[in-house]
Amino acid sequence: MATQRIAVVTGGNKGIGFAIVKELCAKFEGRVYLTARDEGRGATAVQELKKLGLSPHFHQLDIDNQDSINKFAAYIKNTYGGLDVLVNNAAIAYKRAATEPFGEQAENTIRVNYFGTLAVCHALFPLLRPHARVCHVSSSCGHLSEICGDEPAAAQLRAKLSADTLTEDQLADLMNQFVEAAKDGTFRQKGWPGSTYVVSKVGVSALTRIQHRAFLSDPREDLVINNCHPGYVDTDMTSHKGPMSIEQGAVCPAYLALLPPNISEPRGAYLWHDKSVVDW
Ligand code: NDP
Repeated sequence: MATQRIAVVTGGNKGIGFAIVKELCAKFEGRVYLTARDEGRGATAVQELKKLGLSPHFHQLDIDNQDSINKFAAYIKNTYGGLDVLVNNAAIAYKRAATEPFGEQAENTIRVNYFGTLAVCHALFPLLRPHARVCHVSSSCGHLSEICGDEPAAAQLRAKLSADTLTEDQLADLMNQFVEAAKDGTFRQKGWPGSTYVVSKVGVSALTRIQHRAFLSDPREDLVINNCHPGYVDTDMTSHKGPMSIEQGAVCPAYLALLPPNISEPRGAYLWHDKSVVDW
């Protein structure tokens, strides 16, 4: 079995994910997997990087499809036996002008951004090797203060989401409760904000803290997970309104992916695009 070091980026065919792959191809000592849900878009992105003299590898991975996740995990396990870097970058965001009902937007956004990311973690975390680095690409929208529906319900939600005792099951319950409240129109009075994307990213940031605590007691040495806001970046997601380039947006995720062995911090942290640790 091949023993190369392996890095994986989800949603690598465009935007910030593409630039993270590019940066890792230049700096990571090992094989870099550009993954994408669409084989054609993935292959085109790989060709583009090859023209720059870089050598990414490709595998299909749809974070919204359990079969695809299982196939990818089996491929990594059978081919390499493990992996060293995981960047969970893939996500969706409805445009402000979207006409789908709010409940439908909530269901889809939470399913892809929160539960899809979680499913990738469940499949790939058992394969992480000692000193592995995991980065979730969250958002400024993932800051806890964004939970700003009616008070005092919002304060209660913030307390639950930031509790040091919060479990993965409890967080999944909260995400599902939001989807239900989005469907029956009670989300504001239950403390939730009017953005499904915000809730999905707050969920990802809360998940980071839970996973960090699990890593601390993991028998594998020095597993490190962090999450970050990549900046406001010129991509399809922002309808190209962000002032930052995709390369600038990749700086913090790539920094977290490449953290050297046995660093004392950041661990379990929420970082801004300039690499500073921000109190969540
Ligand atoms: P883009 O919309 O440009 O790219 C998103 C990527 O995710 C695409 O490759 C897309 O693939 C992929 N993706 C979506 N759904 C899935 C899925 N089910 N399985 C696999 N891949 C999927 O977004 P950005 O590059 O702007 O965003 C990257 C990350 O940064 C996201 O997590 C986003 O929330 C976050 N972020 C972005 C900010 C910005 O200013 N741009 C600000 C804060 C956070 P496809 O091409 O097939 O749709």
